[in-house]
Amino acid sequence: MKYVAGVDIGNATTEVALAKIEEDSLTFLASGIGPTTGIKGTLQNVNGVFGSLKNALDKVGLDFADLSEIRINEAAPVIGDVAMETISETVITESTVIGHNPSTPGGAGIGTGVSVMVDELGRITEEKDVIVVIPKFIGFEKAAELMNNAKKNIHIKGAIIQTDDGNLLNNRLNQPIPVIDEVRMIEKVPLGMECAIEVAPIGSVISHLSNPYGIATVFNLSSEETQRMVPIARSLIGNRSGVVIKTPSGDVKARNVKAGSVTIIGERKEVTVDVDEGAEKIMEGVNSVSDIINIKGEKETNVGIMLDKVRRVMSSLTGKKKRDIMIQDILAVNTFNPQRVIGGIADEFALENAVGIAAMVRSDRLQMEMIAHTLTEKLKVPVFVGGVEADMAIKGALTTPGTSIPLAIVDMGAGSTDASIINREGKVKLIHLAGAGDMVSLLIQSELGIEDFEMAEDVKKYSLAKVESLFHIRHEDGTVQFFSKPLDPNIFSKVVLVKENDELIPLEGQDNIEKVKAVRVEAKKKVFVTNAIRALSMVSPTGNPRDIQFVVMVGGSALDFEIPNFVTDALSDYDIVAGRGNIRGCEGPRNAVATGLAMACMEPVE
Ligand code: ADP
Ligand code: MG
Repeated sequence: MKYVAGVDIGNATTEVALAKIEEDSLTFLASGIGPTTGIKGTLQNVNGVFGSLKNALDKVGLDFADLSEIRINEAAPVIGDVAMETISETVITESTVIGHNPSTPGGAGIGTGVSVMVDELGRITEEKDVIVVIPKFIGFEKAAELMNNAKKNIHIKGAIIQTDDGNLLNNRLNQPIPVIDEVRMIEKVPLGMECAIEVAPIGSVISHLSNPYGIATVFNLSSEETQRMVPIARSLIGNRSGVVIKTPSGDVKARNVKAGSVTIIGERKEVTVDVDEGAEKIMEGVNSVSDIINIKGEKETNVGIMLDKVRRVMSSLTGKKKRDIMIQDILAVNTFNPQRVIGGIADEFALENAVGIAAMVRSDRLQMEMIAHTLTEKLKVPVFVGGVEADMAIKGALTTPGTSIPLAIVDMGAGSTDASIINREGKVKLIHLAGAGDMVSLLIQSELGIEDFEMAEDVKKYSLAKVESLFHIRHEDGTVQFFSKPLDPNIFSKVVLVKENDELIPLEGQDNIEKVKAVRVEAKKKVFVTNAIRALSMVSPTGNPRDIQFVVMVGGSALDFEIPNFVTDALSDYDIVAGRGNIRGCEGPRNAVATGLAMACMEPVE
């Protein structure tokens, strides 16, 4: 009898399967899990291997010395990195638009009129709708007096005030009006121009000025003029308040930023795509080149710098020359990135178009041999690099009850999505693709403007709720949950993440549960649905995913509460039966490779 362990060093997690071999039978004893230390495929991984092994051994009261053999995954092949590239910017050439989220807007509704300095109201003699402009030096008290005393022919429809006294102003007016406050550079607001302001009721966002036809209605625009309003409307989406001023020459332009290009180099051809053409074009380029040898970014542009960083990190960690490090795949997705509007007057932000790119590098067997060697010395247990990772993953996945060959698996990890397929003859084919769990979190982080990556990870993993009272929350699916003890008053009325044991984590600065949910769902689909289809087309014997019947999803991202459903759903369009794996009937989607490696201990090392 002997004890053996299979160890899978992943980008994020190191997993262990511990087993006992008696004659020809293998019994699993325990599993271990822990974070991978350092970048996958480097000597720094040794500590993580220790930790995860100990985690498994402790569960059954064994020690390192009891082990007869350890197998680690071969050539842990991929390292991923992700970056974001903004490709559009909003420029206000004249002060035509202000949209922002002041803490204290006043009133609610929409108002249109001609912009007039508040102390000039007395000069107006004709019948007129006006929007008053109130600079700091006049102040809200004086302004309220001037407005209340305005003659009957003047109809005040709204106000734009420099200080944050929107409410104080409204409280002093005979007739409340929509007020935009905290407009710092109020001197830039053009006077004598047609102007529309909108303030959303508490808890919602503006709806007229963020819609091109809404603006067209207000200003009575032609279809041509309406077309030009699209960037304005877009820059106002999601704001509590907004102003649009119709100036003769003023314009808001959404212009493309030079973002560099990527060049995909294959055996037979080379394709260059400009990043600002968007993700579809980049992926078309990637898909059009079979047998990719390397992918390069244009020098001194953001993509160039990012791809270069991936190469540099890999070269310093592996001791290889930078020019020998090849990037084998990228996944590009369209996304948004909140950026300050150039020429804005109230520190406006607009959601700019961006492209997120995940890149993948292949390391090689040599590295894993070094890890095995170091581990052998330290543990005094023979450590071997086990068979090909794809074979091991399939072996492990096949322990899922109800599976048999032919079978394809999609391993959804942190840095890469790997797929392999085994045919009736037992032949295995595999592929590694850039883009997985880390990319989803990055997209969530940038689209929601979350500072901390860990927080974005949590937004990915947990569902949302709104704290509606101190005793109840409404979950994102609409169900209500009551509490017998009062909740923390600090989370009252906030959007929260619902963690294990009803722990509620507030999402500061996010007040729209629908938006957070939409961003989360889209990010998951953009990465995993795209990659599952890409991966299966590549391993399919015919190049068509339809020729695959059964798919088992494994890896940490298959634990997600939505991702496997999205993938199952998308693959059903191809008549593929896809589901989450349950390794050894008890491990869920985790531990496939480690399980396969432990099983391989029944056979001699190749
Ligand atoms: P690797 O093989 O690259 O080490 P794993 O298979 O350990 O990767 O998967 C890690 C990924 O799984 C990370 O992106 C992590 O955010 C994600 N993940 C882990 N647990 C969950 C969970 N409960 N829900 C959603 N995603 C998860
Ligand atoms: Mg893995």
